[in-house]
Amino acid sequence: MNKLSKTSKLDNILSWSLQALETCPGSLSAAGVLVDACSGCYATTGCYNFKGTKAVRADNKAAWQEAGWVDSMVAALRKQSYFRWFDSGDMYSLSLAVKIYAVMVATPHVQHWLPTRMYKFAKFETILAQMEALPNVMVRRSSDAIDGTYTKGVHGSTILPDATSVPAGVTLCQAYEHGGKCDGCRACYSKDVAVVGYPAHGRKMAKVIRLAVAA
Ligand code: SF4
Ligand code: SF4
Repeated sequence: MNKLSKTSKLDNILSWSLQALETCPGSLSAAGVLVDACSGCYATTGCYNFKGTKAVRADNKAAWQEAGWVDSMVAALRKQSYFRWFDSGDMYSLSLAVKIYAVMVATPHVQHWLPTRMYKFAKFETILAQMEALPNVMVRRSSDAIDGTYTKGVHGSTILPDATSVPAGVTLCQAYEHGGKCDGCRACYSKDVAVVGYPAHGRKMAKVIRLAVAA
C-alpha cells in the first residue's frame, strides 16, 4: 500500500519517500565515502528518525515491488497538480525507476519533481532521459557540493553555504524567508529553472560545512 506524505513545508503537496542512505547508492563517492551533501543530509536527522516515519518508508520500499503499485499511485494522484518524489531516499532500483516513469506518463495533469543522484550510474541514463523528455517532469540531478558549485547542463540543484552567496545561473530557494515553506513557489517543479540552490540548514550540515572550510 502506498503511504504518501503531506508536508506543510511543501504547501501540503504530496510526496513519496524511502529511507535516506539505505536507498541512496549515489550518496557515496567512487572511493566509497559519503559525499559532502549527503554527510549533512537533513533526512537523517530529527523527525526523519522517528519510528513512525521510518515505518512509512519501509512500507513504501515493500509496496513499490507489488503488482498494482503503479495503478494505486496513479489513483492517489488523480486530484493532484504537483507531486514530489523522494523527500528522502532515492530511486535506487531500475525496476522502481521504470514504475515511476509509468506513473509519470499516466498522470500528465501532475507536475512531478524528482531529485536524484542515480544519474551517476550508467544503467539509469535511458530511463532518466525518458523522464526528462516528459513535459510534466522535472528531474533534478543533485550536485554533491555544499559550496554552491555545480556542473552546467548536468546538475539541477546544489547546496549553498548560505543565502548570500548565490553563483551565476542558480535560482535561490527562498523557503528560509517563509518559515521554511515553499509558500507558493514551484521553482523545483519547473523546467524553466535550470538549477536551484538550497541554503544549507540544520546543525548536521552546519558541522559538515565547518569541517570543509577548516580542511
Ligand atoms: S541522496 Fe538525498 S536523501 Fe539520500 S543521503 Fe543524499 S541527500 Fe540524503
Ligand atoms: S525553490 Fe521553491 S519549490 Fe523549491 S523547495 Fe524552495 S521554495 Fe520550494
